[in-house]
Amino acid sequence: MAIGFEQYLQERYLRVAEKFSSNTCPGCGLGILKGLILRVIDELKIDMDNLLMVAGIGCSASYVGSAFNVDTLHTTHGRAIAFATGAKMFNPQLKVIVASGDGDLGDIGGNHLIHAARRNIDLTVIMANNMLYGMTGGQAACTTPVGALTLTTQKGNPYRPFDFPKLVKAAGAAYVARYSVTQPLALMNSIKKALETQGFSFIEVLAPCPVQFGRRNKLDTPADMFKFLMDKCISAEGLEAEELRDKIITGELSDGG
Ligand code: SF4
Repeated sequence: MAIGFEQYLQERYLRVAEKFSSNTCPGCGLGILKGLILRVIDELKIDMDNLLMVAGIGCSASYVGSAFNVDTLHTTHGRAIAFATGAKMFNPQLKVIVASGDGDLGDIGGNHLIHAARRNIDLTVIMANNMLYGMTGGQAACTTPVGALTLTTQKGNPYRPFDFPKLVKAAGAAYVARYSVTQPLALMNSIKKALETQGFSFIEVLAPCPVQFGRRNKLDTPADMFKFLMDKCISAEGLEAEELRDKIITGELSDGG
């Protein structure tokens, strides 16, 4: 019996436990990110025997970075880039993708991130940003927007979030971009470019977390959370400063050229 494209991708690229079920909460955006990475791997015909996936701890690490049926390092919290760097040093021919979350790569592993970018190490880092720590109960992260309610900021987060694409670009990365899972085609193209870049490539991916972020911030359903990101995430091209106020700017900051 012929199988559909979706099933072909699952059969070919996912671990058994990931094939027929989703371990994420209903309405989570991480499944979209995983599906887009799958499609790019298939399109670029990346050799699965020469691909290493590295993840830290958290929802993104578990449901994206550790889901693929390839050699995988599911590392300690915040240390994914350090492990990935070691693997790349040992075998420079390896294609190495780090897929993990904002708490893992940005908070706990932030120093590894900026130094790997500074050294322009040939890794592709995909940082799923759900704007807090999802798996551990919804604590504030360094990506939580000002005023947002989390488990640890019940009167609103008082701190400015990091702008990771700017930080990583300033540190020296070859390719830097930010997209949302609500911009799937642009995000897929960006993942392709990142994987084809020689040197450090980094994509921040906004991914809705309706359970920990949405329900605390008056975005009660997954649809509300998706709509929030669709309204917030826009390209700056052709827009005035006033139109960009309170928006999350998406696009490429550094194109690997
Ligand atoms: S806690 Fe949030 S990020 Fe984690 S699986 Fe649930 S919806 Fe997704």
